[in-house]
Amino acid sequence: MTECEICGVEIKGKVQYITIGGSKLQVCKACARHGTVIVQDNKAKTTLGSEPVQHVKAKRRLYEQMDLALEEEREIEEGYGRKLKEAREKAGLKQAELAKRINEKESLVRKIENEETIPSKEVWGKIERVLKSFL
Ligand SMILES: [Zn+2]
Repeated sequence: MTECEICGVEIKGKVQYITIGGSKLQVCKACARHGTVIVQDNKAKTTLGSEPVQHVKAKRRLYEQMDLALEEEREIEEGYGRKLKEAREKAGLKQAELAKRINEKESLVRKIENEETIPSKEVWGKIERVLKSFL
């Protein structure tokens, strides 16, 4: 049982913690307005304090990723699928063989050739290394 330290009534429900002139008091809801309410839940307090920072960071990361994605898209030329197919055929490689050489799945090579997937800079770099003289 908790009594209100101002009016002495038994506190039913949530106990309010307030400060009046530097002293901390447990009071009933009605008396809470006499002082400054203290946020008791430390976890909530921490979350409130750190959330905006994390949010900003997450946002920044997202922008960085978007920049990266844009950069990758710019570097891959249009018609990359046809270009890859022609280069691969000139090199006399099958999709599976090329996939093996670049250490990727055959399905990825097929998707790139069909332009269903935009190859990442890393993947395209590997393709360029293998088909250098044919691209
Ligand atoms: Zn009270």
